[in-house]
Amino acid sequence: MKYYSTNHQASEASLEEAVVKGLASDKGLYMPEVIKPLPKEFYDHIEDLSFQEIAYHVADAFFGEDIPAETLKQIVYDTLNFDVPAVKVKEGIYSLELFHGPTLAFKDVGARFMARLLGYFIKKEEQKQVNVLVATSGDTGSAVANGFLGVDGIHVYVLYPKGKVSEIQEKQFTTLGQNITALEVDGTFDDCQALVKNAFMDVDLNACKKLTSANSINVARFLPQAFYYFYAYAQLKKAGKAENLVVCVPSGNFGNITAGLFGKRMGLPVKRFIAANNLNDIFYQYLQTGKYAPRPSVATIANAMDVGDPSNFARVLALYGGSHAVIATEISGAAYTDEQIRETVKEVYQETGYLLDPHGACGYRALSEGLQNGETGVFLETAHPAKFLETVEGIVGDKVEIPAKLQEFMKGIKQSISMSKDFESFKSYLMNE
Ligand SMILES: *Cc1c(COP(=O)(O)O)cnc(C)c1O
Repeated sequence: MKYYSTNHQASEASLEEAVVKGLASDKGLYMPEVIKPLPKEFYDHIEDLSFQEIAYHVADAFFGEDIPAETLKQIVYDTLNFDVPAVKVKEGIYSLELFHGPTLAFKDVGARFMARLLGYFIKKEEQKQVNVLVATSGDTGSAVANGFLGVDGIHVYVLYPKGKVSEIQEKQFTTLGQNITALEVDGTFDDCQALVKNAFMDVDLNACKKLTSANSINVARFLPQAFYYFYAYAQLKKAGKAENLVVCVPSGNFGNITAGLFGKRMGLPVKRFIAANNLNDIFYQYLQTGKYAPRPSVATIANAMDVGDPSNFARVLALYGGSHAVIATEISGAAYTDEQIRETVKEVYQETGYLLDPHGACGYRALSEGLQNGETGVFLETAHPAKFLETVEGIVGDKVEIPAKLQEFMKGIKQSISMSKDFESFKSYLMNE
């Protein structure tokens, strides 16, 4: 399969090139040249298949031309070693719980898949060690570090701002050891990002080290997110609830929802999608006005959605030939203030006992306000509420149970290397590694 850039200036890339480069040289995002529909028989019997079996069918449509079947199957099965149940919250509304992976958020799926795919390419080419550099303000670092943990041929350096991530976030990437090194930078998140960017541009460094990023726009992180939309449909079909299915996605950079739109293009019977925003409602405004007007992000309690210029918007445009009219028939929008998010978490907890996280709360509310007669809704619960412990406990006034996985991280011993924000010292550190 060839991958083209949404900016149409860079030449087409192979899967391997697209995965190793991440972003195309013209700064566009890679898109597969063809999106293959899955056969009718697959949909007819989807409810009898396991999550891993379903995901393998989907993965084969994307990657089957480029990866031997057995290898691809192994990668998919290894990636999805946890369940993604669709849980009924109330009549007609289901929560697709994407938080049963190692770091309790949906980014585990893409990060685990990408790590294994990159590992396969390295082995195949008998390449020397590849070094993944990732700057994080919290959650990306943990998903990437845990996704790549123990994968042969890859070393991960997580750069994070000293004193600016929560203790639980820090523990999720500083306690792992093995092929993961945490670098505690005396600076801000922007300083960390600048160090990574400079490293990719530095001629000496690139001559002696193979460097790559594990950015969320990478096709190997983006496409696997389609897997669970198919599994959600399968579960609802089994429950007899798959007619007129509406899928609602709490969205920031729009990678997650775009993977769902790919699923629909492959024939997945979803009637329509809803993109739920917080106060950063750039997409919602685009739906209303037809104008895409990015602006600086504002901080909210659903902070993983605080994005002022969603990077995957380019993919949404590419998918629908740039037509606002078509986009607005496939996707509707909603946007909520922190106050509304709090209200939703509280009400749903009091009425049903189901505890939402602030991101999932946007999804739930958009469904409960947007569903029409005869429709069933499923929203993506993108992270476990315990990841936002203080916020959520503050809202519901109850103790929130911390899952064993999160408690395990808390027991670990932090190991990190202190780093100044000065590029020369970072460079000499990497050169001597
Ligand atoms: C990353 C993230 C989102 C936003 O997903 P996008 O693919 O960027 O739209 C929503 N919720 C949580 C918990 C996240 O970590």
